[in-house]
Amino acid sequence: MSTTETCFCGAVQLAFSIEGDDLVNSFVCNCLDCRKLTASMFASNFTIRDASLKYVRGQDKIKTFAMTKTIATGNTMTNYFCSVCGSLMYRISSGWPGVAIMRIGQVDDLTLHETTLKPQVETFTKSRVAWCKGAEGAEEYFGNYYAGETERSKL
Ligand SMILES: [Zn+2]
Ligand SMILES: [Zn+2]
Repeated sequence: MSTTETCFCGAVQLAFSIEGDDLVNSFVCNCLDCRKLTASMFASNFTIRDASLKYVRGQDKIKTFAMTKTIATGNTMTNYFCSVCGSLMYRISSGWPGVAIMRIGQVDDLTLHETTLKPQVETFTKSRVAWCKGAEGAEEYFGNYYAGETERSKL
């Protein structure tokens, strides 16, 4: 069974699997790149094995933008946007082959936001705004947990 996500205007829709090993993880990130990228205080992400990722429609509407200079690990992060409405659909990191970084908020089945895709991990809590208390139940890390910075900010 596949799950779908759709951009704000509906021009782009993706289908993918989050069953078993296809879902790698789900996490909130407070880093400063995620603030800029989302125009919000954090990004709500999940990662999947990209083998199951397919376009239902709108691949011709996708524009990409890649940046290295602000990525803490020095990897190149390529962002895939809907060129009609500007929604960020997913990201691909040069340091994380075979994996696509998806956005929880774009998943069409809202029950998944509360269940399967609920964040397991919260990263870059050192950059979290003081008025935000974090994702309930998530393991919290000061820095970039996925780059090996495993110091916990709350036990
Ligand atoms: Zn769109
Ligand atoms: Zn981030």
